[in-house]
Amino acid sequence: MANIKGRGTLPERTVALYLKQLGIRFRRNVKSLPGQPDFVVSSRKTVIFVQGCFWHGHTNCTRAKIPQTNSLFWSQKIEKNRTRDARTTRLLRKKKWHVLTIWQCRIRDKKRILTHLKRFLTPQIR
Ligand SMILES: [Zn+2]
Repeated sequence: MANIKGRGTLPERTVALYLKQLGIRFRRNVKSLPGQPDFVVSSRKTVIFVQGCFWHGHTNCTRAKIPQTNSLFWSQKIEKNRTRDARTTRLLRKKKWHVLTIWQCRIRDKKRILTHLKRFLTPQIR
């Protein structure tokens, strides 16, 4: 399983493409914010994390199954990541950011992701 952080992973590139299609302006890997979010949409005060299901312990996801070998090691490691993710989310919310998580396993469901992003990121028309 490759390292998920860094600029060019496929899930991140896919999300970047979706955002562009929606005409949403964003910044990448913003170091000044907690957790260094993958995407920051300042105009909507929203950050987006693209999370690998295994490393971030996606609940009830087949990709997040703990290997049977060294299972204690893996479950502790992933629990630590989850705790850190939760703390990051808390810190960001305290600073009034909306936090959106996109799981790796959902990326290919383009229609669903676009709907989700639109609901989160485009001004509500009433
Ligand atoms: Zn998943």
